[in-house]
Amino acid sequence: MALRKIVTHPHPVLREQAAAITEFNAELRQLAQDMAETMYDAEGVGLAGNQIGVARQIAVIDISASEEERKHLVLINPALSEGEGCESGKEGCLSVLEYNAKVERFKKIRVTAQDVEGRPLDFVAEDRFARIIQHEVDHLHGTLFIDRISRLKQDMYKRKLKKLLEKK
Ligand code: ZN
Repeated sequence: MALRKIVTHPHPVLREQAAAITEFNAELRQLAQDMAETMYDAEGVGLAGNQIGVARQIAVIDISASEEERKHLVLINPALSEGEGCESGKEGCLSVLEYNAKVERFKKIRVTAQDVEGRPLDFVAEDRFARIIQHEVDHLHGTLFIDRISRLKQDMYKRKLKKLLEKK
């Protein structure tokens, strides 16, 4: 059990294409467990490998029905297909300091992946669940939600971040 350090934009690992995972072993289970703990500690709803400096195809997603009974889903090597509909909704990110913005995503998406034991997963996600998965899968391809907003908003955030980092 260990909390991992979450890296923030503009750290270069957030821009890396995550490598496919081929070995399903104790080390991977530990990584998944650490990521879930790190996500809950940071009060996030999802966390991708790149965000803790591990550019491998792994993401954890909070699927808890309540705070007392926490449950998370581990997605290994996730791939998205059959995107349907389009919905704009607010997003933030543990790796993007002090910023939220509306992002357009598919409303419904098919997810194929593996679980932490290497078993195949294949399901359809909708609405908020679909949004979180799309956000996390973006991370595994080196994409941040701020890449999906207007140039004007990107420039505004750049200036805000510059000030923020100067203060530190
Ligand atoms: Zn994120």
